[in-house]
Amino acid sequence: MSKEQPPWDLDDAGWRAWPPVQDRVDPPWPAEDAVLNQVVLKFGGSSVTGLAGWQVIEAQLRERLAAHEQPMLVCSALSGVSDLLTCLADEVFGDEIQACLLQLRKRHIAQAAELGLPVSLVADLLTGLEQLIHGARLVGELSPRVRARVLSAGELLSTRLGAEWLRRQGLTVARLDARELLDALPCADPVRRYLDARCAFELDPGLQGRLAARPEQILLTQGFIARDEAGDTVLLGRGGSDTSAATLAARLGARRLEIWSDVPGMFTADPRALPSARLLRELDYDEAQELASMGAKVLHPRCLAPLRAAGVPLDLRCTGQPELEGTRIRGARSGHPRVKAVSARTGIMLVSMDTVGMWQQVGFLGQVFGAFASHGLSVDMVATSETNVTVTLDPRSNDLAPAKLKALLNDLRPFCRASLIGPASSASLVGRRIRSVLHQLGPVLERFEDREVHLLTQAASDLNLSFVVAPDEAPGLVRDLHAQLFSGPEDELLGGSWERLSRAQAPPAAEGWWGPRRQELMDVAAQGTPVYVASRSQLRRAAGRLLGLSSVDRVLFAMKANPNPEILRLFEGLGVGFECVSPGELRRLQELFGGLPAGRVLFTPNFAPASDYQAGLDAGALVTLDSVYPLEHWPELFRGRELVVRLDPGRGDGHHAHVVTAGERSKFGVPADDLPRLFELVRDLGLRIVGLHCHAGSGVKTPTTWRDKAVFLKGVAAELPEVRFLDLGGGLPVPERPGMPALDLAALDAGLASVKGGYELWLEPGRFLVADSCALLTRVSQVKSKGGRHFVGVDAGMHTLIRPALYGAWHEIANLSRLGEEPTLQADVVGPICETGDVLGHQRLLPPSFEGDVLLVDNAGAYGASMSSDYNLRGRPREVLID
Ligand code: PLP
Repeated sequence: MSKEQPPWDLDDAGWRAWPPVQDRVDPPWPAEDAVLNQVVLKFGGSSVTGLAGWQVIEAQLRERLAAHEQPMLVCSALSGVSDLLTCLADEVFGDEIQACLLQLRKRHIAQAAELGLPVSLVADLLTGLEQLIHGARLVGELSPRVRARVLSAGELLSTRLGAEWLRRQGLTVARLDARELLDALPCADPVRRYLDARCAFELDPGLQGRLAARPEQILLTQGFIARDEAGDTVLLGRGGSDTSAATLAARLGARRLEIWSDVPGMFTADPRALPSARLLRELDYDEAQELASMGAKVLHPRCLAPLRAAGVPLDLRCTGQPELEGTRIRGARSGHPRVKAVSARTGIMLVSMDTVGMWQQVGFLGQVFGAFASHGLSVDMVATSETNVTVTLDPRSNDLAPAKLKALLNDLRPFCRASLIGPASSASLVGRRIRSVLHQLGPVLERFEDREVHLLTQAASDLNLSFVVAPDEAPGLVRDLHAQLFSGPEDELLGGSWERLSRAQAPPAAEGWWGPRRQELMDVAAQGTPVYVASRSQLRRAAGRLLGLSSVDRVLFAMKANPNPEILRLFEGLGVGFECVSPGELRRLQELFGGLPAGRVLFTPNFAPASDYQAGLDAGALVTLDSVYPLEHWPELFRGRELVVRLDPGRGDGHHAHVVTAGERSKFGVPADDLPRLFELVRDLGLRIVGLHCHAGSGVKTPTTWRDKAVFLKGVAAELPEVRFLDLGGGLPVPERPGMPALDLAALDAGLASVKGGYELWLEPGRFLVADSCALLTRVSQVKSKGGRHFVGVDAGMHTLIRPALYGAWHEIANLSRLGEEPTLQADVVGPICETGDVLGHQRLLPPSFEGDVLLVDNAGAYGASMSSDYNLRGRPREVLID
């Protein structure tokens, strides 16, 4: 076997020569138990980043040692590093590769500094990586084989630092090369072979014995990487570290696997959408697999097969709350069947196939499924009758581009009359032997009384019952079903709610910027509520974070988020520019600054009349067109002008369907189909297109979005020689709930640096600059209990802050008058408007609250005051800036 020499020196010199079993050094636990006592602990990216995570790891290892267990630690790369490495590999021939490498160095230098370790510890690994990259640039090729080596660097780096830190705490640690532990199965496809490999997971007594004989207390290795039969480095694909750990646990016949991450386990619903979701204390492998496949992110579904085969139990644990028992997953046990979870999926397409002419025809299903397969479409649910077969396609596992669906319908035509229905959404109930709990669902099924159900399926595995309903209905339905099924007390299956658990993990609410300033805020509230209060120092901080990004040349504030004059003045003073969308917004800037700040104002109207464009041009703003219509119908307005064009990248993103501002269904941007016409008009009218623009949506959580937009815009800019800047829009998210990760700005910066090329890059966020600098203060008017539900009424409502009603948005709510008091009341916080949707927060945990208390609604600086109204003639809120 020709064996690739990995460029990475593992720090354990004796590793390659396994100690022969007869030479074994007695470990510090009884030798005869050693093989049986192996436990595998896997720690994810957020757990191995920073000192606090490693302190938890150390404490856990010591506990396992005290229990005479032999821990084997499997570690991921530092959080964000895999993205940086992907970026390096994607941009290997780009101009900004150095900036990317620098970011990677910085991340590891910061980690070494936090752990009190010398940076020299990882110098050779980083240099090796740089040589690999430069080698690929020299030969002008990055094969899947080299790509795998580049992407494997993250785990090698993080384990080098982690092992050394543990040693300095007095533990003996062997840092093992995962490529010596996991062998990938042969695969003819080169991409899958190197980047999405599979490993055998049969019990390996040889490996078991060799590892049990290691003299060190702790064995530590990398997740995600393995070796193929030629000795080359290969990767295990998405969720690779979970799969590594599960495969090792199975091969060692470990006592158990523990997967540690930043969430406490699996929940009865997606906790990001439903904070009242309850922790599931116990699941069997099939139930866990079903939940993971339906999107529970805590676990990759692929890792369950090895565990099931070897009968190794899996514990999901939370690094931030090691005291929590988490979720235990093991083989099915007898017991009462019970619904374990509910879940919603949106964007589903149905294909209905009428089969009258094909009735009883042999091979019909084979033919139609063959058509789906030939388009690479995987079918999710299936319902059949005598004359119709209907299937669903899930957008998460399929590319549902209209052209593709049209081609599918064409190919189905010879066999049946096929039509598309959708988009639709689905609500699913998950639990073992779901058939036998149907009678318990009586009241739950009443919810369907006034809803059209497109399809109802019960999986053959008897684990899943799904209802396909109208596009926006599933999330609300799941909320109702969840309230009905999971509001009981804690028991052997149901633990605490996500809201309660994450509250315990997050710093106490009083530690927000407003916590230490409680008295000042109470004084503001005493002058009248509802009132929006913004902190100048917080606003400066938020702007400073973006202005400090090395790859970004200009930051514009999307002033629709908050056009408060004092806030605009503050940003203007810091050098921030403005993105405005109406003559009214332009006028506000003119009034404040005696004209527009030169070169710093972009005017981006949408479906506006010609007079709006005239106003923008007259005011001296840079005007953005987002359609060819104005050029075709009002050419004289624009002839010879300098303009910006907003493009539709074909796909949007965002926290809610209403704020996705790209893609076929959105009204924004010039679509790809119109580009030839645009280029023609640019030529005919002598236009100078100096910038390209793209805003795909708000509250976008994927950090690579802006980089991808830059790549897209650069592609179009190649046809327009006068383009000098690419405006990547806004949409930068702000964590809304306790425990939500913040946007990794360093990774964003590195990603942008890697694709910048010769263009200026601009960002135009609204939310990121103002949301968490401002809170809404409101006073309790009345409290009420009804049918077991509690309501706390306040003087702010959907007329003051419409985001919860409009988008189902989450805003933290605290009782400022009773900060520090035990939150024992679960209540809906409601306003005074005559609409049932007038709710600021559903089922919030608060201390018992009384008339006159001041409640604080957090993160209210963006689209709060600016979207407020005088509905019910209740007046608009006050706005105040402090410090
Ligand atoms: N740019 C444009 C064109 C927008 O329409 C918006 C929001 O609607 C933004 C920027 C700001 O988005 P966000 O507040 O999510 O950053």
